[in-house]
Amino acid sequence: MPEVRLIPLGVGDAFTARHYTTCLALGVDDSWLLIDCPHPVRKMWREASIAALGSPLDLDRVVGVAITHLHADHASGLEDFAYFTHFGLRRRATWLAHHDVSARLWDGLLSAGMGRMRNTPGGAPTRKRLDDYVDMIPLDFARPVEFGPFSIECRPTMHSIPTTAFRIRAAGRTFAFSADSAHDPSLIEWLAPADLIVHEATTLEQSNVHTPYHHLAALPEELRAKMRLSHLPDDFDHESSAIETLREGRCYVI
Ligand SMILES: [Zn+2]
Repeated sequence: MPEVRLIPLGVGDAFTARHYTTCLALGVDDSWLLIDCPHPVRKMWREASIAALGSPLDLDRVVGVAITHLHADHASGLEDFAYFTHFGLRRRATWLAHHDVSARLWDGLLSAGMGRMRNTPGGAPTRKRLDDYVDMIPLDFARPVEFGPFSIECRPTMHSIPTTAFRIRAAGRTFAFSADSAHDPSLIEWLAPADLIVHEATTLEQSNVHTPYHHLAALPEELRAKMRLSHLPDDFDHESSAIETLREGRCYVI
């Protein structure tokens, strides 16, 4: 069986001054799936792969991007990713998302920067569409979607815009990611069978959009042991955490 590896590119919350924001790379052999894609994703990938693997990897090694939701701290690198793939790699990008998540991807996020392309000064711009740059693969709440070595399940979370959590199976191992969510015991139950779980957390006592740390700290020990916390504020006390925190540029073998 090939090794399944997770390399976090960014672990900070939306307002972090010390980290990059949420981005994970899940790898089987040479195939890397990005989970979320904030700016500056190419720099993040270079730095994380040097730290985790000892040599830099570029975006040509990323076979797809699975998108949890369109908040900027998760999705602000998608335009750069698509343009780099188009002009730098001369191919189309492949992105995966549930339709609820991607419904406003073009009209609400990307079309202002990508919808017209003027190739000569003063010339008439050509209209562009998302599928000029990207092959979108829809994810499904009812069944896993196969993509290369990855089998991807998604499930809606409790967040301020449409968002999905993921369970991703590869080479006999399962990785699960809460994405952004308010505290949701049924989501934790859905994530629990995985071999490694990354869960978001906030130090707020109460939140309608993120999961207060104290709920996760109260989980049974065997669940906490295979969970890593991410999306934490910069002042989070890592040393006294009841659950290990996720580190940028580390390589986790799942
Ligand atoms: Zn969010």
